[in-house]
Amino acid sequence: MTARIIDGNALSAKLRGELAAQAAELTVQGEQPCLAVILVGSDPASAVYVRNKVAGCEKAGIKSLKFEYGADAEPAEVLAKIAELNADAGVHGILVQLPLPKHFDEKAVLEAISVEKDVDGFHAENVGRLSQGQEAFVPCTPNGVMEMFKSEGISLRGAEAVVIGRSNIVGKPMAMLLTAAGATVTVCHSATRDLNFHTRRADILVAAIGKPKFVTGDMVKPGAVVIDVGINRLPDGKLCGDVDFESAKDVAGAITPVPGGVGPMTITMLLANTVESARRALRRKG
Ligand code: NAD
Repeated sequence: MTARIIDGNALSAKLRGELAAQAAELTVQGEQPCLAVILVGSDPASAVYVRNKVAGCEKAGIKSLKFEYGADAEPAEVLAKIAELNADAGVHGILVQLPLPKHFDEKAVLEAISVEKDVDGFHAENVGRLSQGQEAFVPCTPNGVMEMFKSEGISLRGAEAVVIGRSNIVGKPMAMLLTAAGATVTVCHSATRDLNFHTRRADILVAAIGKPKFVTGDMVKPGAVVIDVGINRLPDGKLCGDVDFESAKDVAGAITPVPGGVGPMTITMLLANTVESARRALRRKG
């Protein structure tokens, strides 16, 4: 069997077209969606992510503001900028690119962002809301994966879903969303005893580990849907996922590639959250 490839680029292009139309409509109504991005330090991967986010905004007609600080910036300076952006009615989304330099308290910075503008969905209140099924900003990467399931017509109700990874930004919210959609969810992590036992019975297998080609074909149940969240750079400079695509594609029923799978969906959902935040701001004005 060769798996169907789930094309994140194609789905992103379609959704971004729809978002651009919604952003244009909001702009006509006087509420152009606006995302403020804060970058601290000179991590090259972070700089690329920020550049892609800003470019994504521009293409969709979303205004973007970028604030850059050196690696030795004072946390108080960044917190003051967040407070200023929280108070600015023209800003609908605030994003602090992670990771922050070691002398920053990452949690304190994320909690400083107003819940209404937390388009990354990392604020504890948004996480709590999500866990209770209340209106919340959903973290972009797992939200993008859910959009993939939807567009592929993949049924989650009653499915056995296994998520490898329990991070706050991917694994945990992914598990919450799958649970809410009716899947029976197992979360595996670095202390899981027999990982293969779990992965081999998964109808839906999500890998968010950060280890290149970690999930091999023999770990996959025949016909399973395999979602590869990993982005790893190999010594030759090429990108690869957490799944060994070559061996897994012969066993899975459907699979996301890296690059061109989950990656583009993450930025698409960031744009979607920013547009949604602008829509809510307009509604509040009544
Ligand atoms: P993380 O380092 O915070 O978490 C990794 C998780 O993997 C941990 O919970 C850990 O317990 C688990 N793990 C590590 N070794 C394991 C093992 N041997 N067996 C089972 N579990 C193991 O990483 P993260 O932030 O969740 O990111 C995971 C991957 O996803 C990375 O490659 C990252 O670059 C990528 N990522 C991609 C996007 C995207 O837009 N596609 C967004 C965020 C993260």
